Amino acid sequence: MKLTELLEIKSGYKPMVECGCDLKDIYKLGEEKSRIDASSVLGVGALHDFIGGQNGTIHYIDMQQYKEHQDIFDTTIYVHQDKTFDVIIPLHAIFITQRYKMIHEYAHYVLHSDKGMCYACHRGNNDIEKEANTFALGFLMPAKLFEAKQKKYNNNINSLVIAFLVPPEIIKDRITLQEKYGL
Ligand SMILES: [Zn+2]
Repeated sequence: MKLTELLEIKSGYKPMVECGCDLKDIYKLGEEKSRIDASSVLGVGALHDFIGGQNGTIHYIDMQQYKEHQDIFDTTIYVHQDKTFDVIIPLHAIFITQRYKMIHEYAHYVLHSDKGMCYACHRGNNDIEKEANTFALGFLMPAKLFEAKQKKYNNNINSLVIAFLVPPEIIKDRITLQEKYGL
C-alpha cells in the first residue's frame, strides 16, 4: 500500500491482541525466523529486503509527515486482508533503532495478525509489546552467536551494541532474558 493510501484506512482495522504464548516459545520462534548468523548481522538495507520478501512494505516518514498525520502514523504496522502489511519507520530514528523497529513490527505480523485486518501502535497494550520484543531478541541475537560475542567482548554493552547493531537497552533486555530463562 502507498503511504497516501495508509492515510485513508483507519476504519475497519482492529487493534492486535496478544497471542498469550510462552515467552520462551516466542523467543525460539524469533530465532527460527532469523537470518542472522556469525557471518552476517544484517544492516538496515538487508532487513528492509527481508521484510519485502515477507510481503511487507516499509515506509519511512519524516518528522513533518508525522506531525501532520500523527493519528495514522502513531500506528507502527497495518496488516491487510490479503496478509500483506505496511510498517512505518521514523526516518529520524538512528539506524540501530530502525533495525530493531523493523523486526519488532515483523514480530507483530508473525504473532498477532491472524484475525484479519489489524494494527499495532507503540502506545498499545504491554503484553503484545512484550511478546514482539521477545521475538525480536531471538531474531536479532540468537543464543549461540550472542554467547560467543559476550565471551569475546567480556559482556561489554557498548561492544555488543556494535556487534549486533541494536540499541543498548535492547542488549540489556537480551541479557535479562538470558538470566531469567537461560536463553
Ligand atoms: Zn509494537
